[in-house]
Amino acid sequence: MADDKDSRRKFLARSSMVASTVDAVSGAGAASTEEPAEYAQSDYSLRTKALVSVLTRKKLVDPAAMDAVIDFYENKVGPHIGARVVARSWVDPNYRQRLLADTRAVAREDNLTGVEGTDLVAVENTPEVHNLVVCTLCSCYPWPLLGLPPTWYKDTAYRAQAVIDPRGVLRKFGLELDDDVEVRVWDSTAQVRYLVIPERPSGTEGMSVEQLAALVTRDSMIGAEKLAPHGLGDNA
Ligand code: FE
Repeated sequence: MADDKDSRRKFLARSSMVASTVDAVSGAGAASTEEPAEYAQSDYSLRTKALVSVLTRKKLVDPAAMDAVIDFYENKVGPHIGARVVARSWVDPNYRQRLLADTRAVAREDNLTGVEGTDLVAVENTPEVHNLVVCTLCSCYPWPLLGLPPTWYKDTAYRAQAVIDPRGVLRKFGLELDDDVEVRVWDSTAQVRYLVIPERPSGTEGMSVEQLAALVTRDSMIGAEKLAPHGLGDNA
């Protein structure tokens, strides 16, 4: 079994070298040299490069079409969409109530892309309750609201520890919760994805939806971060 795994790694590493060569010739791999070493050597990275290399050479995948898909996920959908939903929920109690009752219905009203086929559920952080989202099976994520998941969200350590020791995970992210705060962990699936509505930071009274949305971070909408009071920790 160990030999199998070793062979698989060697195969993937060789395939990756081929893929890197192809990328170097085409100029598409210029950014890969800037990846952290541990990420560049991960199985995910090696598998992806091997697959891209093989499928491209067999003409089963059009690199231009793939670039368009990546552009869609990186630029057309993203955390800025979720941030606006969160900001609006802070200033409009009726919108917030409807969002918590039926998130997908609100997403449809807002004409968000990709809301069909997967249910969306918004959960709210309060002084008493902190919500954290994970996908223990793979990397299910509310991409219509947040775009692509961060690398750590797909990491095996996060997926395992988030359900066993969520306070420990949050501590690693720099968030220490009081003992009397209830922590709720939501395990995403292909059918249901979750969005955390973080608490509105203090010092933001009177700000517009656009101004508030600029304060909402991706990680706060996963529950991995708590938004700091406005004016602290930045130059605002
Ligand atoms: Fe998943």
